[in-house]
Amino acid sequence: MTYQWNSKETIGLLGELTGIPSPSGYTMEIMDTIKKMMASWEVEHITTNKGGIIATIKGENDERHRLLTAHVDTLGAMVKEIKPSGRLKLSLVGGFKFNAIEGENCLIHTASGKTLTGTILLHQTTVHVYKDAGTAERSADNMEVRIDEKAFSEDAVRELGIEVGDFVSFDPRFAALESGFVKSRHLDDKASTALLLQLVKHFSESSEKLPYTTHFYISNNEEIGYGGNSNIPPQTEEYIAVDMGAIGDGQTSDEYTVSICAKDSSGPYHYGLTRHLIALAKDKNIDYKVDIYPYYGSDASAAISAGYDVKHALFGPGIEASHSYERTHTDSLKASAALLYAYVMSPLVS
Ligand SMILES: [Zn+2]
Repeated sequence: MTYQWNSKETIGLLGELTGIPSPSGYTMEIMDTIKKMMASWEVEHITTNKGGIIATIKGENDERHRLLTAHVDTLGAMVKEIKPSGRLKLSLVGGFKFNAIEGENCLIHTASGKTLTGTILLHQTTVHVYKDAGTAERSADNMEVRIDEKAFSEDAVRELGIEVGDFVSFDPRFAALESGFVKSRHLDDKASTALLLQLVKHFSESSEKLPYTTHFYISNNEEIGYGGNSNIPPQTEEYIAVDMGAIGDGQTSDEYTVSICAKDSSGPYHYGLTRHLIALAKDKNIDYKVDIYPYYGSDASAAISAGYDVKHALFGPGIEASHSYERTHTDSLKASAALLYAYVMSPLVS
C-alpha cells in the first residue's frame, strides 16, 4: 500500500486549523485539538512543558531516528495599552509589519475566556477628516483596535474584561477556491501542519511500516524563534522543518511546487540531506524548486542553534505574500505531500 494524498481532506483540515486562533503564546486550544486527533488515531505522543506535541511512530529500525516538524503557532498581537478613547494599542507577536494587518478584523481573547471582536485600523483612517491618511506611518503609535462595543473610555473597556496582556488574533479569511488556490492568513505553517498530520494519520491506519522510528513534532513557538529547539530524542539523526517556501523577486519558489531551502539567514542547511531531498524529488518526478530565503529562520535552524547534533533541512509549500494575507495552490500542497512521503520512506543519509 502506498500513500494516497487526499486533497479534499487536507484542505478540510487546513480550514479547521486556520479557524482556531493560535498566536505564539496562546496555542492551548489548537494543541488540544491536535492531541485529540493523535489520540483518535492511537498514535503515541507526548506534550512538552513548552506545549509542543511529539508523536512517534516506530519503524523497522528503532535505533536510528528521524524527526519532522511543522508549527501551528501564528503571528498575532497582545493588548499593549488601553487608550483614553477606548481603542487598543497593540504589541506585535512575531515578525511582520502593521501594514499587513491594516483593516483586518480581529478577536480579543480576555483572561476570563470571553472573546470580543474588533478591527485593526490606522488612527487617521478617515480620509474625510485626516489629510495624512495615506502617508501616516503604520506604527504601534498610529495603529489601534476599534472594539465592536459601546466602550469609549479606558474604564468602559476594562469593564468588558479587556486588559493589557490579552491576546489578539487575526481573522484568517480562509478560502479554498475552484481554481485550486487556497488563500488565508497563517498558511505559514498550518499548511505544512495539515500535510504532516495527514501523514501521521496514514501511518497510524495502514499496515505500511516506516523504515526508521520517526517523530512528528508539532511546534508552537516557531514565530518567536524557539519552537522545535528542545526535547529532540537523542537517537534523532535527521531533522526536517516542514515550513513555507518564500516567494518574491529573485526567488525560484512558487505556488505550484515544493520549495527546498538551501540556505536562509541562519546559513546553509545540511548539504548531504538537502541533496538527498533534491534527488528524491527528481526520482519521484515531484515538481520542486531549490531556493535561498533572505530573511528567514526555521525550527530546524533553531534546533542547530540550541546545540543539537543533527543533520537539518527545510522544505515545504510555496506561500505567496507570507506573513500577510497568504496564498498557495493545491499543486504545491500535493508536491510537498509527495516529497514528505518519499522522504520518510527513504534511507537515512549515510
Ligand atoms: Zn513558518
